[in-house]
Amino acid sequence: MSQSLKTNTDLREEILELKKKRNAVILAHNYQIPEIQDIADYVGDSLGLAFRAQETDADVIAFCGVHFMAETAKIINPEKTVVLPDANAGCSLEESCPADKLEAFLKANEEKNYYVITYINSSAAVKALSDVICTSGNAVRIVEAAPKDRPILFAPDQNLGEWVSRQTGREMDFWEGNCYLHVEFTRESIAKIKEEYPDAAVVAHPECTKAVRLLADEVCSTEKMVHFCQESESKNIIVVTEAGMLHRLRKECPDKNLIAGPTDHCACAECRFMKMNTLEKLYQCLKDLKPEVTLDEELRKKAEAPIQRMLDLSADAPASDLVRYSWDQEFLALFDKCLKKYRDGNEDFTTYYTDGDLNFLNSIGYREREFFDFVEDYADYGDPAPETALLVAAARRDYFLYKMGGKPSGEKDLNPADLPAKTAELEGIVWLPRILAKARGKLKGELDPEIMFCCGGDRKFLSTHDISPADFLRTVWSAEASDDPDMTMAKFVKAVSKA
Ligand code: SF4
Repeated sequence: MSQSLKTNTDLREEILELKKKRNAVILAHNYQIPEIQDIADYVGDSLGLAFRAQETDADVIAFCGVHFMAETAKIINPEKTVVLPDANAGCSLEESCPADKLEAFLKANEEKNYYVITYINSSAAVKALSDVICTSGNAVRIVEAAPKDRPILFAPDQNLGEWVSRQTGREMDFWEGNCYLHVEFTRESIAKIKEEYPDAAVVAHPECTKAVRLLADEVCSTEKMVHFCQESESKNIIVVTEAGMLHRLRKECPDKNLIAGPTDHCACAECRFMKMNTLEKLYQCLKDLKPEVTLDEELRKKAEAPIQRMLDLSADAPASDLVRYSWDQEFLALFDKCLKKYRDGNEDFTTYYTDGDLNFLNSIGYREREFFDFVEDYADYGDPAPETALLVAAARRDYFLYKMGGKPSGEKDLNPADLPAKTAELEGIVWLPRILAKARGKLKGELDPEIMFCCGGDRKFLSTHDISPADFLRTVWSAEASDDPDMTMAKFVKAVSKA
């Protein structure tokens, strides 16, 4: 083992220990170095990170990103300690819009009564001058919700502003700011790499110039890049954004050849601010609880209102906009939390969840009672185990996000009275009609709260035939494409059954 690897391993362990001791959560942006992404509790884009920061019940937030991101976390979490590994990790885009200049501009143009939409890459003082904040992930939604009778000033990223204006058809005025790194990609540099990979798809961040965006098959936030790469039919994909994104994409799309978009002078582009954070600095900031982000309370309150407006406007976004990298860990953490409450004697599950927990359940297509049923059965009977509950939830979540596009079906729930009788048979297999109806309702999110897929009766059926609950659900999903889904399922059960 090399010395540096050994050092990293030691550091990782010490960071994890400190994290526990401090009751801290580590949030990391997609552009962070791989070692930081790998140790973080959550890795995502600015929108996902803002939601995570709002939802956490940790005492300390170690924010591995640039300063404005940690500052945003502090604005919405005044009572928490927010630290970032390197206080000098700034952002050229943030710097391109100083608050005093924006204030002077708004004063000089008072008669216009601008509705100011500000990209999250901005200081607290600039946020405080804004009506609403946006990220690249929700900019279209935020602009669409803007009052129609007021002109929009979009700050500070002109490229993102032009892109969102085109998407929404809404005229707006732009602050002339940009990200130094994203404007380094040029039409020539991307055309050149396209010559090398003529069949490659190109996905670009909206902070890129229009000339580059026009060459892209898709322009989207880093979070949505994950879905684009997963769904794309192209094996080769050129990714035109900060190179740290490639680490995450390679993990989530292992079958794709992901190629860093080059600039005119380097093979990939790294943000010098994002790369200031290191494992050593993360360790040190958790140890010293410094550098800490602090804010004047009056300023904080003014900056909080437009961020909250953004979060409110994004809360009912299609769940596919809010797909989360570490949802499995969140699921298990929530499971643990609810289990503890139940074992402590609180049986009223409606008191278990914070707004953040409810947002999370919504993002995986789950209901409060549906989640609780698994917690309760595990506490009372030791079955299904949390890992089994997670696999079942993964099947429902995938169906919800990829088959249903993250939107509820709008169909009537299946009621207990509609279920086939417990004695009903299909091809001589008792209980199969009943569990099939429940599995279909489970996948579509159409089960009355009184019905639980994977209840005691289902578990008896599944263990008798040696089928895991999640495998059963996924097979029901794939059988949908057959000519006779019921018969396909009966054949499947007979083929695998050990009964
Ligand atoms: S990549 Fe650009 S926008 Fe993002 S932090 Fe770096 S300088 Fe700022």
